[in-house]
Amino acid sequence: MSRTDQPLTILVVDDDTAVRAQLAGMLDGFGHRVIEAHNAERALEQLRRHPPDLVLLDVVMPGLDGYWLASEIRASESGGRWTPIVFLSGRDHDEDLVRGIEAGGDDYLVKPVSAQVLAAKLRAMHRLLAMQERLLDLSAQLRLSNQQLRHLSEHDTLTGLLNRRGFDERFNAAIALARRNRTPLTLILCDIDYFKPYNDSVGHAAGDRCLGEVGRLMAQMCRRPGDEVARYGGEEFALILPETPKSGAMTLARAMQRVFEAAGLPHPASPIAPHVTISGGITTCVPDDATTMEGMLTRADGALYVAKSKGRKRFFSFEMQLDTVEQLAGVAGAA
Ligand code: GH3
Ligand code: MG
Ligand code: MG
Repeated sequence: MSRTDQPLTILVVDDDTAVRAQLAGMLDGFGHRVIEAHNAERALEQLRRHPPDLVLLDVVMPGLDGYWLASEIRASESGGRWTPIVFLSGRDHDEDLVRGIEAGGDDYLVKPVSAQVLAAKLRAMHRLLAMQERLLDLSAQLRLSNQQLRHLSEHDTLTGLLNRRGFDERFNAAIALARRNRTPLTLILCDIDYFKPYNDSVGHAAGDRCLGEVGRLMAQMCRRPGDEVARYGGEEFALILPETPKSGAMTLARAMQRVFEAAGLPHPASPIAPHVTISGGITTCVPDDATTMEGMLTRADGALYVAKSKGRKRFFSFEMQLDTVEQLAGVAGAA
């Protein structure tokens, strides 16, 4: 309905049958579609059933008057959409016009109105409607662009995973939620083993493809609602695992080692395996007031450092019992 030469659907509200018939005749002559109502209640019903492009509204009607109806219409509008209301009244005092505009009317004509004046007023309202349509289109486009921008700013183009910025936001939210619910939260920092030699042997482009594959495997591992995977840095990935205690984190770490083994992404320059392997640092806690993102990252990073120094291709956590850690490293190491 954005083109001003297209017909409008117009609701005519007037208690006088003759006035309605005369207006309907004129509007029909202009090529518009007419819906009629003889009082305010019926008009509200019609508005719900057949939302019009414009309302021609009488002021004085038995029962609820036109001012009341205009206010009702305005109160029910949302989402930036508005229906032009033109009062058509026998009352021609300035105060009547002022009241009509204040009730939400866009114009106020005094009856009887000539066909010429009515046609001109309708054209003006039609222009406003077209402008409204353009504004709504533009704001929808703007919303979409903002969503796309937000997505871009929080995601990594190479892997499609969250980037550092997206991670920070999700991780802070996960800490806050776990603190409130008193549930365990696990963070795992993973790092590809010997990735520099990988790049050096097969080239940077192959390295990029490998990062994409690794990201895909990581994402496969984090399927529970609330789980998040991020590309934390160059060849480092961070997993946020809400409601995951130490035992669950360990199970996941084991599964991750198995998945990387099964995937068998060739690594021609690794001294420890013919395929790409990862090491991981795990930290799990029920966050309290002292828990911070930085604190958890430092712990996971420290644990990752230990996993690397113990020979790589394994996970480590400071918080697990020694035998558990050995068992975990053993599982990883045995592969
Ligand atoms: P470690 O087993 O101790 O983790 O050794 P490493 O070689 O994996 O670690 P190091 O930190 O020495 O090197 C990381 C390498 O990751 C260096 C860099 O070339 C590579 N890298 C980081 N980001 C990218 C990327 O976006 N694309 C590619 N192809 N390589 C990357
Ligand atoms: Mg590495
Ligand atoms: Mg690294």
